[in-house]
Amino acid sequence: MELAYTDKEKAFRDEVRRFIREQLPSDLRDKVLTGKHLGKEDYLRWHRRLHERGWVAPNWPVEHGGPGWSPVERQIFADEMAEAGAPPVISFGPTMCGPVIMRFGSEWQKSFFLPRILSGEHIWCQGFSEPGSGSDLASLRTKAVRQGDHYVIEGQKTWTTAAHMADWIFVLVRTDPSARKQQEGISFILVDMKTPGITVRPIVTMDGSAEINETFFDAVKVPAQNLVGEENKGWTYAKFLLGNERVGIARVGACKRELTRLKEIAAAEPGDEGRLIDDPRFRDKIAQVEIDLMALEITNLRLIASLRDGRQPGAEPSILKIKGSEVQQRLSELMMEAVGPYAAPFQREALEEGWNGEPIGPDYATPLAPTYFNNRKISIYGGSNEIQKNIVAKATLGL
Ligand SMILES: Cc1cc2nc3c(=O)[nH]c(=O)nc-3n(C[C@H](O)[C@H](O)[C@H](O)COP(=O)(O)OP(=O)(O)OC[C@H]3O[C@@H](n4cnc5c(N)ncnc54)[C@H](O)[C@@H]3O)c2cc1C
Repeated sequence: MELAYTDKEKAFRDEVRRFIREQLPSDLRDKVLTGKHLGKEDYLRWHRRLHERGWVAPNWPVEHGGPGWSPVERQIFADEMAEAGAPPVISFGPTMCGPVIMRFGSEWQKSFFLPRILSGEHIWCQGFSEPGSGSDLASLRTKAVRQGDHYVIEGQKTWTTAAHMADWIFVLVRTDPSARKQQEGISFILVDMKTPGITVRPIVTMDGSAEINETFFDAVKVPAQNLVGEENKGWTYAKFLLGNERVGIARVGACKRELTRLKEIAAAEPGDEGRLIDDPRFRDKIAQVEIDLMALEITNLRLIASLRDGRQPGAEPSILKIKGSEVQQRLSELMMEAVGPYAAPFQREALEEGWNGEPIGPDYATPLAPTYFNNRKISIYGGSNEIQKNIVAKATLGL
């Protein structure tokens, strides 16, 4: 197994770095690196630059407007973007819904939706989870009833990331309540967020942000041509969609960026004697997380080397999800620890609401607590770590 990048892959990495150097606006990069919130326009500014270069959807084939990259090139691209502080592309269109439309959608769906995903005209969100249906997704209750040339959707989705910015949502709905197995009565439908009857209500998270939402469907009328594939086959398409999240799941580039930030903060903070970064106990903690990150990177390289050889991954993506989320959470914990009381969570309020004066302490301390709280989500979304451990137990250990 070849774990090092080839000369061609290194040349590709240089090309990506050059593009970032020349194209990434410094104000956007600063926002990402200092943990500030990004608005729709921030995401779109970067999205449009990537689109001009043909790099919005690294996993798409050339025939649909993608760059046709190999798994290794996609990994390099994701790592370089994250490490440099480029805003992520809102992934629900390019990574999730787009490939489903390509594989299972009608010719009309392909010609209408795919170019608009690439251009950024349509930002998408994902309507899978419901109150009571998260890990046990197949129990979902939002229903769609066929009436002539349209469906009428009734129900509620929750935790819908970016619904407040989205133009379209892809939903899993129950179309056959009497199916023998729950999975057999579900369909995959594309819905315009402007359709009457849709209400989006923000869920304010512990960090004070509102990136996730509840999404209500009250007699929402959707043209039948928006059904993807066949009625009651939506579970198959949903499984395909989730399988596409494999590459990049470890977020090695983002971890490296945060490790650098941790070291910078520890170098700027005072320790018992001299700088915190020279304190043997704190150095030990940094070293431990750096070792974990190196192990994560090597495991990730093993996965992409096996993909390069054309093998199908087993439980590796689950292992990467578990370890990647642990490393990211540990890094944000150590940054909090480094600045001590300056990381108190009210600091964001001070910054954003003008709460009785200036935030206290160094600038870099202000976003640390919100980031720490926000990062709790990483071990929940995309299949919680407990569910991933179940997969590892079954697939690798045969339990
Ligand atoms: C920030 C954030 C953004 C999200 N964005 C979206 C989105 O855009 N669209 C969308 O559809 N969904 C989204 N989700 C939902 C996410 O997919 C679910 O939260 C996740 O699947 C867990 O489901 P749940 O919250 O209902 O928890 P539950 O499934 O109720 O689980 C509760 C706890 O029990 C554990 N558990 C459950 N079943 C088992 C089991 N069999 N074995 C062991 N432990 C188990 C879980 O690990 C968890 O700790 C988002 C979630 C978060 C936190």
